[in-house]
Amino acid sequence: MSKQIITRFAPSPTGFLHIGNARTALFNWALAKSLGGQMLLRIEDTDKERSTEPAIRAIIDGLDWMGLDYDGEPIMQSENIGRHKEVAQQLLDAGHAYKCYCTADELNEMREKARAEGRNAFYDRRWRNKTDADAPAGQPYVVRIKAPLEGEIVIDDKVQGKVTFKAENLDDFIILRSDGSPIYQLAVVVDDHDMGVTHILRGDDHLTNAARQTVIYNAMGWDVPVMAHTPLIHGPDGAKLSKRHGALGVGEYRKMGYLPETIRNYFARLGWSHGDEEIFSSEQFIEWFSFEGLNKAGSRMDFAKLENLNAHY
Ligand code: GLU
Repeated sequence: MSKQIITRFAPSPTGFLHIGNARTALFNWALAKSLGGQMLLRIEDTDKERSTEPAIRAIIDGLDWMGLDYDGEPIMQSENIGRHKEVAQQLLDAGHAYKCYCTADELNEMREKARAEGRNAFYDRRWRNKTDADAPAGQPYVVRIKAPLEGEIVIDDKVQGKVTFKAENLDDFIILRSDGSPIYQLAVVVDDHDMGVTHILRGDDHLTNAARQTVIYNAMGWDVPVMAHTPLIHGPDGAKLSKRHGALGVGEYRKMGYLPETIRNYFARLGWSHGDEEIFSSEQFIEWFSFEGLNKAGSRMDFAKLENLNAHY
């Protein structure tokens, strides 16, 4: 029997449901449905200062309004922190991660040096091969993962093709902060693994994260899910879609009287195509959906086109 296909939508609840994120949900939904799989919803609420209840509600209501159903209950990332720490400990025990006791001054010095030498990665790995016996008593530490010293990390991306990251540009990045809390990269990998996620489809602003996340997958000996990073939505002027272009949140489109069918059709078409088809039902979208149809180039919002499409529905 072939493996159960599982996609996920993993928004951070720090504001309204951004239309770009909603499109990511839409693609994940179509991908799961087209392959007879499941889409899970994971609320990435570990940043307690920026995550809010109204934002969580806006995400859930926005998905509901758009008709994007997910399987099971939403998973709250903050409930998995114990598990993230457990994996960090496993990485430490296996020698794939280490404690770094560098002070802020030391790190600043390294940053300065790297800047002067034109290097991206700055950390000089000075704690990589030390043991607990070298640890200064009572000093806080972060946990860093051992990134490869040479060679490259290749992401075989379904949209971008093969994307290569040189090891020299990757630091031994932090996976646990000095207060013991897990950082985003670790939380995402552990949750995706534990949720059985087989396909990760998200915005291409996460492409460099994909390289770091691959370091964690490899260290744990876990399979890297299929990855697809789609270009972001741009405004009519070609700049990344922002407030000044107008409606950014799904709720705004709803208030303006757009129908969910219009929004699904328009935003699906804005990053994906099936021949010359402009108007299609959700059933057709699911039937036709494939990675090959996802655009490699960024897309531009065209409000007049959206308006016309609404008239059709
Ligand atoms: N929480 C991240 C965001 O909202 C997405 C993480 C992911 O898809 O891996 O940008």
